[in-house]
Amino acid sequence: MYQRKDTRAVRVGDVTIGGSDRVFIQSMTTTKTADVKATVAEILRLEEAGCEIARVTVNNDEAADAIRSIKAQIHIPLVADIHFDHRLALKSIANGIDKVRINPGNIGHRDRVEEVVKACKERGIPIRIGVNSGSIERHIIEKYGYPTAQGMLESALHHIKILEELDFYDIIVSMKASDVPLAIEAYRLAAESFDYPLHLGITEAGTLFSGTIKSAAGLGTLLSMGIGNTVRVSLSADPVEEVKVAHELLKTFGIISNAVTLVSCPTCGRIDIDLISIANEVEAYVQNIKAPIKVSVLGCAVNGPGEAREADIGIAGARGEGLLFRYGEVIRKIPEQDLVSELKKEIDILAKRYEET
Ligand code: SF4
Repeated sequence: MYQRKDTRAVRVGDVTIGGSDRVFIQSMTTTKTADVKATVAEILRLEEAGCEIARVTVNNDEAADAIRSIKAQIHIPLVADIHFDHRLALKSIANGIDKVRINPGNIGHRDRVEEVVKACKERGIPIRIGVNSGSIERHIIEKYGYPTAQGMLESALHHIKILEELDFYDIIVSMKASDVPLAIEAYRLAAESFDYPLHLGITEAGTLFSGTIKSAAGLGTLLSMGIGNTVRVSLSADPVEEVKVAHELLKTFGIISNAVTLVSCPTCGRIDIDLISIANEVEAYVQNIKAPIKVSVLGCAVNGPGEAREADIGIAGARGEGLLFRYGEVIRKIPEQDLVSELKKEIDILAKRYEET
């Protein structure tokens, strides 16, 4: 078992990644970065959903120029995603970016690496080395014949060495692959080999449905091993969905504790209410409530309170009249049409009580 707190602590804007058990949720915008209005709007939506670090692509001068203005309108650290072009890194740094994702081995002559490292040092900006199974250096691929976890580790160590030789240690590393077992093994080797914080991701995971499953399998395995300091769920979907999935995943492992957990039954022939739509409505309602409350939504009253004994608050449906229960005890009967609204009120009361303690 690895301990995520045993990593080096690296500051990114006003958050510290690594050195603790915190795992931060990250996402990436889908807008043209140069379109400041659209990019800010998307980041604000991500913030609202619980995103704690946002990454933007910086693929041209206009994107690098937009960083200052974007930064002024958002509230979370901003990361510039840069491939090859050290000038864009320098420009992003000058414009106030909080972290740069660039692989030092890919930006050419050593003078360029030195310039970027010098600028990062002056402003206290970390560098994320992003190893990706699809873009490992050619000599490593030739050695192994295809992308391997060992090859990915060698790639990471190659980039790390370049930075360490320049006395630069504010490093975060990712070891992304679309192949889940490969990513798990690469991250495991990384956690064994160095103590820089790890940014987790299963790259190109797929659509909302399949990508969620792949990400949960890969990132969940790693989180359960104590590996990972930031996570990004990569989906071919609205990035807000990425944040929601990451949030749920961290909740599952108890890494996020101030959030509502929803328990809902799978339904069966005993069902008396439209449980599926009720569960969806309650899930949406509790999404942004920051309190460790367990809410239960059950389809019938037969096993209701018993099945949700550990829930703080819950309902069990019944034709005409349902039950509201707290800590496994029925507290009152409620007309069917008022079940959800009464449950929401009770959730609010518990959340307020939590806020006040
Ligand atoms: Fe079936 Fe009722 Fe259990 Fe839901 S709570 S699975 S409807 S017995």
